[in-house]
Amino acid sequence: MTYQQLKAEEEKYVMNTYGRFPIALDHGKGATVWDVEGKRYIDLASGIGVNCMGYDNEILIDAITAQAHKLMHVSNLFTTEPMVWAAKKLVEKTHLKGKVFFANSGAEANEGAIKLARKYSFDRYGEGRYKIVTLVNSFHGRTVTTLKATGQDRFHNYFFPFTEGFDYADANDFDSVRLKADETTCAIMMELIQGEGGVLPLDPAFVKQVEAYCRERDILLIIDEVQTGVGRTGSLFCFQQYGIRPDVVTIAKGLGGGVPVGAVLAAENCCKVLTPGTHATTFGGTPLVCAAVNAVLDTVADGEFLAKVREKGAYLKNGIESLGKESIHGVRGMGLMLGIIVDEGKHTGFANKLIEKGVLAITAGRNAVRLLPPLTISKEEMDEALTIMKEVF
Ligand SMILES: *Cc1c(COP(=O)(O)O)cnc(C)c1O
Repeated sequence: MTYQQLKAEEEKYVMNTYGRFPIALDHGKGATVWDVEGKRYIDLASGIGVNCMGYDNEILIDAITAQAHKLMHVSNLFTTEPMVWAAKKLVEKTHLKGKVFFANSGAEANEGAIKLARKYSFDRYGEGRYKIVTLVNSFHGRTVTTLKATGQDRFHNYFFPFTEGFDYADANDFDSVRLKADETTCAIMMELIQGEGGVLPLDPAFVKQVEAYCRERDILLIIDEVQTGVGRTGSLFCFQQYGIRPDVVTIAKGLGGGVPVGAVLAAENCCKVLTPGTHATTFGGTPLVCAAVNAVLDTVADGEFLAKVREKGAYLKNGIESLGKESIHGVRGMGLMLGIIVDEGKHTGFANKLIEKGVLAITAGRNAVRLLPPLTISKEEMDEALTIMKEVF
């Protein structure tokens, strides 16, 4: 079937909620994908930072296949090995001494963290300490609550009434945080690199100040690592490079290497807040997805693998900078989470052109072409992408 034929069927049967690029993907190998018409692309998007292990990865596929033969799903009324081992790895590899709740997406992980923070405060201080402060230009998800947690006005539309109890502080402005995070506040939630917002890393000094402020006031520090987590920035989690100790970390995107899974990782001080009957989900932590999580963590949570991610990130960043293109105003980000800064509003045009020439890239904010390649991308694949970028920019 051609793209045009498939697109016509899509328009008939699938809700039109995405501005999709004009190709239909069919299969992949490593960081290379092919569309339904056989055209080949270097994938620097990996499904918005999800396919961290690349395509047709044997370790991942073997783990999923073996588990599928045993059990794919049991309810959360029973214990399974894959879930326990996946949780143990997340706890031990982060030294957070806490516990994990498994959800199915980033938004759900954030919903869980928000509920956890509110109950933590309710248990200790009673009603009235419910406010969650997030940052202007943040992104935390698409449910009615996480839309409101997202610090961008354009997301606070149509779906009224939204969940109350969110306020927004300016990133890298500690006075603004102090002003917003008052005595009614139970948590501050932020991304360390604003992903959807434009690949904007927070200032480390600011992050440290926020952490100290949270400690002082018994406000929970929730770090949304849905995009930055699972090796993306060159450490298992980005907070490790910032040298902070969050109370809650939310994880999704890369965690399952392509299967839908999210997680709330809570540190020792607040990991007993959610109790039977206070939080649940049918699919969360099902053995099939946890088999994938185990395969991903066994691969990614490894010093050598993470060192390679940092090397590849530096190689790609340097490669883009040395193209010496006037249309490129800089490259932001950490590890393999990079934003190529172009003139405001020109990012979509460049992404379209890259795709036309054989590189999958996405956009972020108002001026960034965002790159989130599979963490397993090869030097050859990066070189091929750089050659195409040279032409496009
Ligand atoms: C993608 C993303 C989310 C939402 O995750 P979904 O799986 O789409 O619900 C939340 N926070 C951040 C930082 C994200 O990048």
